[in-house]
Amino acid sequence: MNWFPNYTCMACSCEIQNSTNDYLCQKCMDHLPIITEAQTGHYSPFAYEEPIRSMILKLKYADNGFIAKALAPYLAAVYLKEIAPKTKQPPIIIPVPLHRSRQRERGYNQSETLANELATYLNLSVVNNALIRNRKTVIQKHMDATTRANNLHGAFSIEPTQLSRIQNQNILLIDDVYTTGATTQECTAILKANKVKNVIILTIASVC
Ligand SMILES: [Zn+2]
Repeated sequence: MNWFPNYTCMACSCEIQNSTNDYLCQKCMDHLPIITEAQTGHYSPFAYEEPIRSMILKLKYADNGFIAKALAPYLAAVYLKEIAPKTKQPPIIIPVPLHRSRQRERGYNQSETLANELATYLNLSVVNNALIRNRKTVIQKHMDATTRANNLHGAFSIEPTQLSRIQNQNILLIDDVYTTGATTQECTAILKANKVKNVIILTIASVC
């Protein structure tokens, strides 16, 4: 047990008193929406529910690198349990990119922060600039899966100077939330068109 009288919970912002975790209060720790059933096609440690939802929003809208540090072990656990046993050649980690102007506004890409933390944790290679987002895509909540997919068509490309680092490699694609899968599918398509071996999708949380 840890005692951090001046620390606040990164999900609910209460003062952490007695908790088994350095970053979350015990109440939030006890309510983590852990996914226990087997997953196929994509992997996530959590459902997109509280307190994870708040943590992801904070990860996105404030420079909270420590949240990525706290979430990386959960990504790593899913990787080691579900992905590593099925993947002979260790993958290269690639984050889903933001558009350059959005990254400049925000100062960083939350998926890149997660990818870097996970790479350090698992001792895997990460290539942050392999995928490029060609335009700012606005995903609206009311869009159905087909509209989202059309909206993203052609949104990504590969940085030519990074091609040799990713070809014939397994790719572990990292994003914060899996919603309809439109974003990761579009990234997968462009990666596969550029002759990567296999693309495995790992996100912190999954809506479905
Ligand atoms: Zn809390």
